[in-house]
Amino acid sequence: MIIDDQYYDVIIVGTGVGGGTLARKLAPTGKKILVLERGEFVARESSELVDTEVFKKEQYHAPEPWYDNTGEPFYPQMRYCVGGNTKIWSGVLMRMRERDFTEVQHQGGLSPAWPLTYQDFEPYYTEAEALYQVHGKVGNDPTEPTHGGNYPFEPIAHEPRIQTICETLTEQGLHPIDLPLGIGDQGRTDSEDTGVTPALQHDNVTLKTGAQVVCLHTNPSGSEIKAVEAKIGEESYLFLGHIVVLACGAVNTAALLLRSANEKHPDGIANQSGQVGRNLMKQLLSVVVQLTASSSKDSFPRTVGLNDFYWGDRDFPYPMGHVQNSGGISQDVIFSEAPPIFSALAKVMPNFGLRQLATRSIGWWLQTEDLPNSENRVYFMGDKLRVDYEPNNVEAHDRLVYRWVDILKNVESAQPSLFNRSTHPRSDMPIQVMAHQCGTCRFGEDPDTSVLDLNCCSHEVKNLYVVDSSFFPANASVSPALTVIANALRVGDHLIQTLQ
Ligand SMILES: Cc1cc2nc3c(=O)[nH]c(=O)nc-3n(C[C@H](O)[C@H](O)[C@H](O)COP(=O)(O)OP(=O)(O)OC[C@H]3O[C@@H](n4cnc5c(N)ncnc54)[C@H](O)[C@@H]3O)c2cc1C
Repeated sequence: MIIDDQYYDVIIVGTGVGGGTLARKLAPTGKKILVLERGEFVARESSELVDTEVFKKEQYHAPEPWYDNTGEPFYPQMRYCVGGNTKIWSGVLMRMRERDFTEVQHQGGLSPAWPLTYQDFEPYYTEAEALYQVHGKVGNDPTEPTHGGNYPFEPIAHEPRIQTICETLTEQGLHPIDLPLGIGDQGRTDSEDTGVTPALQHDNVTLKTGAQVVCLHTNPSGSEIKAVEAKIGEESYLFLGHIVVLACGAVNTAALLLRSANEKHPDGIANQSGQVGRNLMKQLLSVVVQLTASSSKDSFPRTVGLNDFYWGDRDFPYPMGHVQNSGGISQDVIFSEAPPIFSALAKVMPNFGLRQLATRSIGWWLQTEDLPNSENRVYFMGDKLRVDYEPNNVEAHDRLVYRWVDILKNVESAQPSLFNRSTHPRSDMPIQVMAHQCGTCRFGEDPDTSVLDLNCCSHEVKNLYVVDSSFFPANASVSPALTVIANALRVGDHLIQTLQ
């Protein structure tokens, strides 16, 4: 074991949207900061995502398996690299709605209140939107929460077909919205160019890539993390720091805490409550395909969303969720490994290949909040990482899908020259799709029922923080990343004060 001869004020583990954003926030303090990232720098992704080779090579899946609740191995769709999953994300950066922070009755059960309100997060949402250069428009979304100001940039224009669909939806009394998108000079903003790279311009920040943290070591009383153990190449290193912040993603952060169990923390670090790894959420996600009459570009940006059914429908007084165009279906097919789309299409249209699917279709991505359930959890069985996840709140999601398909049929009737077929294959995302994972170390005031306090510091280990999506005590139907960014900025303010 090699003991690093430096002592750091802060050690951040992981460079996804939580860790990368925090590194940037803390960098100007001049404090000595070490960032440990298990992956390496990777090239920016673009249209090559539609390459079937990528699909075949399963480039976007983790190298080691996790195991589902039947013990079957699966390779989660994760990117281990500088920037984490933001290197393959769609950059849709939406605020949670005000009501998402309160207790909400869903058809499938209760979504508990967050211990903080939307107003607590609002200034950090504004800061997050400025940092990630969000393009959007306040005012055309019936569920839009109050904003301190407008988005920093104008919305991205719709592709012509999408524009026509938006106009038709509006004629039908619906409210299509301009999706808020993080876009910079190089395309989608991510936590490498927005977080890590600006942080590294400060001499006090060091990044070590290829550094997989495998264990946290506490002092003899178990009250503090004394050292972070990382594997770099074939060597094991110990890094010493004053404050340790985990940002490995919801599953991997919980796994690291559980794996680091010791005499003082026999069930895992910071796990006296037994809550570490529990309440895993990942939203119910489906793609519905709409076939167009003529070809167009392989991929186009996600630009339109719809929240008309976010809180329910005429005959269904429970939240249903959010809809957005998926920006070229093949991209999502590749990500989701969704053979049901292919098999459904093959039955309807023999000889319909991937290329035609890409150019003659619009994918619609539907997402519904799932509810915290302590049996949906991450834990070790021997040395195998189990991820038990049973979807809940399923009827709400099905209602959203059926409602949306009805709407697509109305659009097709109104635009017969654009659509000459009315078939809508649906694909539900399997366990491998962990894109919106959250909730495994929830924050709260009560140490018996939560892992982290309101500053996202462990209730038990006074120098241990978590700033990835683990802290969510309940999910929402919007995508999670802007809330993770806003929270990292909020925790960053707290750490700046603490370090002073
Ligand atoms: C295909 C795809 C599309 C998405 N699109 C959107 C979108 O449009 N909008 C949205 O809001 N969200 C989207 N998401 C979700 C979004 O990317 C995540 O919510 C967000 O990245 C979570 O950030 P994080 O910091 O919690 O974790 P991650 O981004 O997963 O980052 C974790 C980091 O920790 C590193 N790491 C893990 N374990 C270790 C270890 N032991 N030691 C050292 N380093 C470690 C990883 O390599 C990684 O860099 C998408 C996700 C995917 C996969």
